[in-house]
Amino acid sequence: MGEQSEKIKKNICMGLLAHVDAGKTTLSEALLYLSGKIRKLGRVDHKDAYLDTSPLERERGITIFSKQAILDLGDTRVTLLDTPGHVDFSAEMERTLQVLDYAILVINGADGVQGHTVTLWRLLERYQIPTFIFINKMDQDGADQEALLAELRKRLSENCLDFGPMDIKTEIQKETDPGSRAEQNTNEIFHTEAEHGEEFWESLAMCDEHLLEKYLEEGEVGPEEVTRLIIERKVFPCYFGSALKMGGVKYLIGGLEHYTANPLYPEAFGAKVYKIARDEQGNRLSYMKITGGTLKVKDLLTTSKGNVAAGDEIWEEKADQIRIYSGAKFELAKEAKAGTVCAVTGLTHTFPGQGLGITENSNMPVLEPVLNYRILLPEGCDVHQMLKKLRELEEEDPQLHIVWDEQLGEIHAMLMGDVQIEILKRLIWERFHVAVDFGTGNIVYKETIAAPVEGVGHFEPLRHYAEVHLLLEPGEQGSGMQFFTACSEDVLDRNWQRLILTHLEEKEHRGVLTGAPITDMQITLLTGRAHQKHTEGGDFRQATYRAIRQGLKKAQNVLLEPYYEFRLEVPVEVVSRAMNDIQKMQGTLLPMETEENTAILKGKAPVSTMRDYQKEVVSYT
Ligand code: GDP
Ligand code: MG
Repeated sequence: MGEQSEKIKKNICMGLLAHVDAGKTTLSEALLYLSGKIRKLGRVDHKDAYLDTSPLERERGITIFSKQAILDLGDTRVTLLDTPGHVDFSAEMERTLQVLDYAILVINGADGVQGHTVTLWRLLERYQIPTFIFINKMDQDGADQEALLAELRKRLSENCLDFGPMDIKTEIQKETDPGSRAEQNTNEIFHTEAEHGEEFWESLAMCDEHLLEKYLEEGEVGPEEVTRLIIERKVFPCYFGSALKMGGVKYLIGGLEHYTANPLYPEAFGAKVYKIARDEQGNRLSYMKITGGTLKVKDLLTTSKGNVAAGDEIWEEKADQIRIYSGAKFELAKEAKAGTVCAVTGLTHTFPGQGLGITENSNMPVLEPVLNYRILLPEGCDVHQMLKKLRELEEEDPQLHIVWDEQLGEIHAMLMGDVQIEILKRLIWERFHVAVDFGTGNIVYKETIAAPVEGVGHFEPLRHYAEVHLLLEPGEQGSGMQFFTACSEDVLDRNWQRLILTHLEEKEHRGVLTGAPITDMQITLLTGRAHQKHTEGGDFRQATYRAIRQGLKKAQNVLLEPYYEFRLEVPVEVVSRAMNDIQKMQGTLLPMETEENTAILKGKAPVSTMRDYQKEVVSYT
C-alpha cells in the first residue's frame, strides 16, 4: 500500500447498504475487480466472494458481519464496508453507519423500493450520510429505468437524479460483449452527465437555491458544486446497472472518484470504535475509525474525557498493532491518520459505540430483546465454561444478551427474533465446536408500578444491624431503572449510602406479580440506619433487597408486555384478511395507505400473538 500513497489524495470511508439479495456483495466484487484489486472475480453463488470471509456467510450467501475492503479509484482510496442486510442484525449496521463518510444504497431493480429500503433510507437520513444509489439487476427483464427513477423520487427523495447513461440496457449489452471486458479493468473516469444535456443540469440546479441562481447567471455547474450538493444531501446521484454483468459499474466508479471530497478532521487525536471481533488466533480486535489526529503503534489509549462517569474505572492500554484489513488479509501499519479504518490489538476495555480521545461515545439505539430462549448444551459440556465462551460472543455483539439463571443453573439467550437462532447455533459450532440447541422462546415480560410507594427493609439478626427506607416511583416509559439518594450524610455515612446504591444497581430486581424484572422506575434512598458496632457490609445488601420487596408488595403493580411495531405490505386483494388477523391478535392499526396494488398496514401488536405471523403472511400472499 505504501508505494501508492503518493497518488492518494482522498481517503473515504464508504458503506454499502441494501435489502438482502439486492446484490451488495456482488457489487463489492465488481468494484474490487474493476479497480484492479482482484484478478479473479469471486461470486456469491460460487461461494468464493472476497468479502464473505466466514464460512457461515459463504454457505448461506448472506453477509452477517461488516467486512472491509480497500480499493483505489484513481486518486481516491475507498475503504468499503459491507454491512449486514438482515433486519435481525440491524444494530451492527447502525454502529457501522456512524463511521461512514458516504454510503452506496443498492436497490434491486427487479423489485424496486422495498419496505426495508425505506428503513435504510431513514437511517441514512438520521445520520446525515451523503448517499449514492446503485440500482442493480438492470439486466433482468422487467427492470424499467424510467419507472424505477420515478419510484425513487416518490418514495425516497425528489432529489434522486440519474447520473448514468440514459439507456442502461443497451449499455449493459455493449459492455458485456466478449472482448470488451479487458478494457474495463482501468481506472479511467467515466462521465455521462453531459449526455443528458441541459435538462440534467437544470434539474441539478433546482436542488439548491444558491446553485440555481449561479446556473442561471453563468450557465454552468462545476464539479465542486456537485460535490457540495452531495455532501449536503441535496442531491442523490443514481446509477443504474448490473453488478453481476459488470454493466454500468464504471459510471458509479467515475462518480465516486469525481464527486467526493476528503472530510475535514481535527488535529487532536480521536477515534470511534464500531466493532469488536477476534481473529483466528483469538486476539481481540477493536475496529475503529480515526476521527482526528494520528494513532501510532504503542500509543497509550484511554477513556475519552467527556465520557468518564463518576466512579468509573479509568483505564490506559497500549495499541499493540494497527491492522489495515482488506477482505480476510491485513497489513500492519506504523500509524493511522484521521480517516483511516483499522483494527487495533491489545485493548480489552473497548466496546462498540465508544469514543476515544476527543471523540464522544455514541448513544446507541436500544433494541430490547423480546424473546428468551434456554440454550441446551450437549451432554458432558461444562455449563460454566460455556458461559464464559458465550460472554465472548456477547462482547462482539452487544445486541446478544446472554443471561445466567443462577437458580436453575441454565444459560439463556435474549433475542429479537427467530432468525438469530440458526445463525447463533452455527456461530457457536464454528467458534467452539459445541453443538447447542435452543428451547422454545418465552416472551420477555417486565413489571413496573403505577404510583409512588415507600418500602422499608430491616436486617437485624443477633450482632447485625441495617435499616433502609426507599421511595419507589414510576418513571417514564423506556427510562429503565434510575437510582438517587435524598439522605443526609449526617444521618447515614456516605460510605453506607454508596454501598446501598451499589446494591440497587448491581442486579436485576424482580417484580412480585410474575417475577419478571422491574423497569421504568426511580428509586430514591430516603433514609437509613447503621449500628456503631454491629453493622457489616453484607447487612445493607439484605436490608436493601428487603426494602424493594416490601415496597413492591404494597404497590400497584403493572405487567408490561412487549409489542412489535410493524409494517405490513400485502396485495390489496388480501388486505381484509390481514386486517382481520391483526384484530384477532389484539393489534392496533393506523389508517391504511395504498400504493397501486399494494396495501400498507402499520400498527402495533403484542409479540405473544404476532411472533409467527410473518410465516403466515408468506403462505397466504
Ligand atoms: P447481497 O445479499 O445484497 O449481498 O446480494 P448478493 O451479492 O449475494 O446477490 C444476491 C443474488 O443476486 C446472487 O444470486 C447474485 O448472483 C444475484 N445478482 C447480483 N447482482 C445481479 C445482477 O446485476 N443481475 C442479476 N441478474 N443477478 C444479480
Ligand atoms: Mg452479501
